[in-house]
Amino acid sequence: MENFQENPSCEVDHDAGPARVSATELLERKASAIHGWGLFAALEFRSGLRLIEYRGERIDKETSTERRRGGLNHSIFFLDDECDLDGNVEWNPARFINHSCAPNAEVICDEGRLWVISKRPIGAGEEITFDYGYDLEDYEDFPCQCGAASCVGYIVAQEFHADLARAIGRKLACKRRRAPAEKMSG
Ligand SMILES: [Zn+2]
Repeated sequence: MENFQENPSCEVDHDAGPARVSATELLERKASAIHGWGLFAALEFRSGLRLIEYRGERIDKETSTERRRGGLNHSIFFLDDECDLDGNVEWNPARFINHSCAPNAEVICDEGRLWVISKRPIGAGEEITFDYGYDLEDYEDFPCQCGAASCVGYIVAQEFHADLARAIGRKLACKRRRAPAEKMSG
């Protein structure tokens, strides 16, 4: 499972205002219908606003590879050619943000720091989500319960949604072909 968050867009909306926002002012941590804890908008946000910094431990590539080996780690982001950032630390409230197939936020990189930015207007009380960016490997191990009308059923990056639909279609077709044969042999 490649769950490495590669190359978040480095374009920044410089009209988005000062970066002094904090989780306590803008976001609330509450139980989420998607999974575990989530972060929710405390007020209305316009598109392009920095909601919270995605903070974490700067680690070298070797440590990063080690931590991502053989297990789910959706908290590690690509920073630059030398360093990655592991957000799985207590002092990173942004780690509670859940994945959605129709996310209302995205993570961008600005001068070596990562920010969660609204990608559309967000209503007060809405859960903040971004795309975890998983590829298709072992997708069945990561069911998605984001509740979006366009939910594809698994935690898979938006760029792979069409491939996922094809993979699921092939699997269903296989099952349909196999079913009569199984009956006959039983
Ligand atoms: Zn979903």
